[in-house]
Amino acid sequence: MKSSLVLAIFCLSIPAFSTPSLEPPKLRLDGSAQPSHYAVDLTLVPDRDTFRGSADISLDVRTPADIIWLNAVGLEIQAAIFQPASGAALPARTVTGGDQFLGFAFDRPISGAGVLHVAYQGKISRISNAGVFQLEEDGRWYVYSQFEPTDARRAFPCFDEPSFKVPWQVTLHVPKDDLALSNTPVESETSEANGMKAVRFKPSPPLPSYLVAFTVGPFDIVDAGRVGPTPLRVIVPKGKSADAQDAATAIPQLLKLLEDYIGIPFPYEKLDSVVMPVSDFAMENAGLITYAESSLLADPATETINHKRELAGICAHEMSHQWFGDLVTTAWWNDTWLNEAFATWMERKIPGEWKPDWDLAVTEVNARVGAMRSDELASAREIRQPIQSNDDIANAFDDITYEKGGAVIEMFEHWIGPEKFRAGVQAYLKQHAWGNATAGDFEAAMSKVAGRDVAPAFDSFLDQPGVPEVSIALKCGRHPVLEVSQKRSLPVGSQAKPQTWQIPICVAYEANGTVHHQCSLLTETKGEIELTGAEKCPAWILPNDEETGYYQVAYQDELLKKVLADHGGHLTVAERVGVLGDVDSLSSEGEVSAQTALALVPEFSQDPDWHVVQAAADIAALLKGESVPSNLRAKGARFIRQQFGDRATALGWVSKPGESDDTRLLRQKLVPFVASSGEESELIEQDEKLAREWLATRRGIGPDMLAPALRVAAEFGNRDLFNSLRTAVIEERDHHLREVMLDALGSFRNPELARAALDLLLSKDIDVRESFYPLLFGPISFLDTRDIPFEFVKQHLNELLKRLPREVGEDYAAMLPQVGATFCETKDRNALDAFFADRVKDYNGGPRTLAQTLEGIDLCIAARKSMAPELAAFLNKY
Ligand SMILES: [Zn+2]
Repeated sequence: MKSSLVLAIFCLSIPAFSTPSLEPPKLRLDGSAQPSHYAVDLTLVPDRDTFRGSADISLDVRTPADIIWLNAVGLEIQAAIFQPASGAALPARTVTGGDQFLGFAFDRPISGAGVLHVAYQGKISRISNAGVFQLEEDGRWYVYSQFEPTDARRAFPCFDEPSFKVPWQVTLHVPKDDLALSNTPVESETSEANGMKAVRFKPSPPLPSYLVAFTVGPFDIVDAGRVGPTPLRVIVPKGKSADAQDAATAIPQLLKLLEDYIGIPFPYEKLDSVVMPVSDFAMENAGLITYAESSLLADPATETINHKRELAGICAHEMSHQWFGDLVTTAWWNDTWLNEAFATWMERKIPGEWKPDWDLAVTEVNARVGAMRSDELASAREIRQPIQSNDDIANAFDDITYEKGGAVIEMFEHWIGPEKFRAGVQAYLKQHAWGNATAGDFEAAMSKVAGRDVAPAFDSFLDQPGVPEVSIALKCGRHPVLEVSQKRSLPVGSQAKPQTWQIPICVAYEANGTVHHQCSLLTETKGEIELTGAEKCPAWILPNDEETGYYQVAYQDELLKKVLADHGGHLTVAERVGVLGDVDSLSSEGEVSAQTALALVPEFSQDPDWHVVQAAADIAALLKGESVPSNLRAKGARFIRQQFGDRATALGWVSKPGESDDTRLLRQKLVPFVASSGEESELIEQDEKLAREWLATRRGIGPDMLAPALRVAAEFGNRDLFNSLRTAVIEERDHHLREVMLDALGSFRNPELARAALDLLLSKDIDVRESFYPLLFGPISFLDTRDIPFEFVKQHLNELLKRLPREVGEDYAAMLPQVGATFCETKDRNALDAFFADRVKDYNGGPRTLAQTLEGIDLCIAARKSMAPELAAFLNKY
């Protein structure tokens, strides 16, 4: 699953055969009854708010029971009977068990094999993207399902945990002109009365409830060919076929590369890729992957250079889940990383094989640096976290599971060796195909191919939060030795406890005119690595070879200067970006002086590669941050103009014919940075004109520059521009353009206009699922407007809560405390805490969001205290 929202579930361990109880379960089902097969039959008509359903659940009741507990939410049960394998049927009464469970009670105990038959009615939501819901596109309605992690129970009563993995047989009754799809191909289709038809799908291989899926609507079909025997189709809302060309090209190529890597053919009979008119979402249902429209479709006339890359990443992620997650399913949600970290690792690895010139190794480094920011907090979670509540389930789908998990896998791949690692992956998938697995199963497979027990090292990263910082010093003599030590990397003012890891450390160094590579494992606080290829002091040493290790490096003595000598020309782009990223992170922790970090900017701002320029810009952004005294911020902007202004002005907002992709990407990063953070007046003026022209004529700005150009124009824009954008976004039908315009509407630095933009969250004109992020969190980026979203939430909380999706897997309310994410004063922190402390208990995953936000404010206050004098000294001299 890919989502901007953070969600999940988890639990306590439960014995497999405990005695069934009249008390409803707390978090998990007790295992006394086990499903072996489901046949579900649903009547789904788009544009209706309810559906009819029946479920025949084949059961093995292992302990005689007069009540069977299942999961069900929002289902109105009309009839239920249990038909034993032999003997008379028994009617069942239903017993409500909290908000997640439903009991089926009998007058006498039942046991052994039988079928529980349930007839019921359920809801089709219009405000949420969880359970069974409907979306509208161009006046037509489409029904979709989305069940991960715990929303299958909104579609049918079921054993809604990933370890209950059994075959499903789905039949849908739908309007005769609609297309109906599920995980498997259609087995039969028959006409029914009242303009309906019955579509019966083939039985599925074993699936957990969260991977069952269906969709109904007036779709168009785009053929994407075959890979081996597997037919591939892209399923689009009516009239959108022309926008599916990139998807139809990328999907078969990426699937072929995945099959080659994994060494197991695609596990299901067909693969449909279904477009949903929502933003920023995808789900790996077996054989029926769903994607957000803006991810999968693009109008060839307005497609951005990034879109093809993002599309390939998302498709590789979801398709890799067909093995990691679907064929082999995590046994319980504490190992969500076994699905998500692997899919995240694959989303760059496979597109990187397909298009080597995309430099996805650099994207990986940036993702690691990004994950470390959340992982440095004392409130960070472990990759593998015990699940004790719905909050834990909601929290498990976060950056730590995805990005830290992906980075840790990459580190072990490099350390064990890519070929051995691949053999381990293949062995693990083959051994557990069609079943469930745990982290221990994966580690066992990997230890076997590695020829050593990798579990202690792997577990040190899975089971504790935090970022290791590795400090290096060189002892030169006849046999040079690298002295390494580790500690937990902590921001200034952090209350997190110290800890250590077993860190796979791979180094590269140049000695005797050759570059040498070697790997070792740092198991203690301190260690020594003998540089076996060197007879005298190496010319330079890179202590994170290929920048694949999940640790930050603190260089002692002259080692930083040496590794970056000659513009770091002996390093790859990914390595240069990784070294600069470490310097940037450590400077905000007081481990590297701001002077040292900023001294790198003039040189690397001129790098030919846009990734490196961006890394230099990230360091320069220190001078625009909270720690810069307000009277010196104008000087900070001047520094940015002086370092980057010439290149940005030469590039301008408008691309020229025949430019390379890299030049276009450099423009996309650099021009808005210099205009916004450097407050470069010429670029701002040009941009204002371009934005007005584009809003009037839809011409003048290329697709790549549209989002940054509208956003920066809004930053400096007036009421006229606001009104034009507001009208345009309400009328716009194209998802991508609506996203771009909402992003701009959330970027006005004029406080009055920022307030006016927030009012749109309560308007019927825009779906709150699209407007929530850009409008509510946009204004927190600027000093002049950062208090406004919290004021808005305090004033309109009840109205907002009524409009927001509130499911466990998709609870928008849990994000609300982040309106204070850029506060940096004690009084604001206390006000945020006072307002939310009790309220977040009702938001799924909310307590952690609040804790993280409050910690972020404390750290900001501490960082400002420690960094302000140094930054002031730098700017005063400048
Ligand atoms: Zn995923």
